[in-house]
Amino acid sequence: MTGIGENLGRVRARIVDACGAAQRPPESVGLIAVSKGFAVADIRQAVAAGQFAFGESYVQEALPKIEQLSDLKLEWHFIGPVQSNKTRDIASHFNWVHGVDRLKIAQRLSDHRPAGLPPLQACVQVNISGEASKSGCKPGDALELCLAVATLPRLHLRGLMSVPAPAQAGENPGTAFRRLRELFGRMRAQGLVLDTISAGMSEDMEAAIAEGVTLLRIGTAIFGERNRQTSE
Ligand SMILES: *Cc1c(COP(=O)(O)O)cnc(C)c1O
Repeated sequence: MTGIGENLGRVRARIVDACGAAQRPPESVGLIAVSKGFAVADIRQAVAAGQFAFGESYVQEALPKIEQLSDLKLEWHFIGPVQSNKTRDIASHFNWVHGVDRLKIAQRLSDHRPAGLPPLQACVQVNISGEASKSGCKPGDALELCLAVATLPRLHLRGLMSVPAPAQAGENPGTAFRRLRELFGRMRAQGLVLDTISAGMSEDMEAAIAEGVTLLRIGTAIFGERNRQTSE
């Protein structure tokens, strides 16, 4: 077993423990291995340990990796901010996009999704902690955006995504995840058919699971610390 395989085993054990504590079935929590900053060989090690869903944040970095791994049947999640000049590449090469935060971007992704592929699975990103620097729509705008995204022919709206601010000392780390779940509940009460809350990273996955998150995005705990800084 490689280091990455062992790390994956530890992450899976954390998921099982946190699900036990929250009285949730472990199958109710999916795992995206966030491979940004890591090489194709590292991804192959994770695949060998049974992981098939991977997350990337930078189109330029991701496309050659996806190409080099096209011998494997993997599920690729674009988790970075979506720039309008990247919608064609994202729509052509990924299975999921998590950072939809305005209608114009969603429309471009739908327009660019190739006809031969199934609809692009999408999450609307919400700036749940209200940080000035963060992408994501305001919680108060999420319903209107989701209702519009749900009508686009080549996107399949699955739910909400967020990158909450790390909890400050003395703050409950679950608060942001709970607000996200409440917002998700309000969307469903409006008739939207949603099944995904994408949130929870290496540091806060237990709090995320306790508050109902369904899809974790874990990088560091699987691949190790990222020292290479990549950007577009
Ligand atoms: C990098 C990244 C992650 C993974 O974070 P870790 O702390 O390494 O687990 C998750 N989500 C997004 C949007 C990211 O950019």
